[in-house]
Amino acid sequence: MTKIKRKIYISTDLEGASGVWRFAQTRDRTSPLFIQAVEYLMGDIAALVRGLREAGVSKITVIDGHSGGSNFIPHLMEPGAKYLTGQPRRTMEGLDKTYDGIILLGYHAMKGTPDGVLNHTQSSMAESRYWYNRRESGEIAQTALIAGSVGVPIIMVIGDVATCREAKRFLGSNVVTIATKRGISREAAELYPFQETRTAIAKGAKKALDAIAGCKPFKLKMPIHCKREWIEHTERPQETRVVVREASIRDVTKICAF
Ligand SMILES: [Zn+2]
Repeated sequence: MTKIKRKIYISTDLEGASGVWRFAQTRDRTSPLFIQAVEYLMGDIAALVRGLREAGVSKITVIDGHSGGSNFIPHLMEPGAKYLTGQPRRTMEGLDKTYDGIILLGYHAMKGTPDGVLNHTQSSMAESRYWYNRRESGEIAQTALIAGSVGVPIIMVIGDVATCREAKRFLGSNVVTIATKRGISREAAELYPFQETRTAIAKGAKKALDAIAGCKPFKLKMPIHCKREWIEHTERPQETRVVVREASIRDVTKICAF
């Protein structure tokens, strides 16, 4: 257990939460399935906040990231953290270099990952794909890039087995990963019982704090050449390119959803 005062930022998505495996649970906010899915997400967040508090973390910020962000259920907020939700706001509102590490919770593998539950990159409707300096990247690398622009490392990633694999591939072997399920295909999974995933998340939180020293902020070689491909409303794949010459949080955030 660490005795040093720590500040941790939690970025959330919905597709990688415990118990979520169908787009019917993540797209239509009015559906009972959606409301149940965000309850699952709140349960995962609560386990993580509990684990971090027990390990002595003094400040925790949780940001609501799925689909622009208005997913939190206020009466299910675990005490001991600040919860940021709604629009308009910056993607990683309030993130600065005073944070010791970032945890990605409910994340998913990039578009095209065969065993990635609900795999996509940014828009699953448009089937977008993104490349940075020719390396195809998903939302794990994109969030890591934004975090890296202010010098904060990703220390833990929570999602399905494919998400954990992608996290290690982009961020290195020191990042702590916790699997909430194992994908069979895009909308089929072996689900893990909530008690098991949440115990693992809380335990993993303590390990993640010890991993801070071994996790480096994610950075790319400048300038960053970006490409996006998508197929929505078109017969053939469309593509657009952009070059970024400055690694400011503003510029880097722009290339994660252009
Ligand atoms: Zn999402």
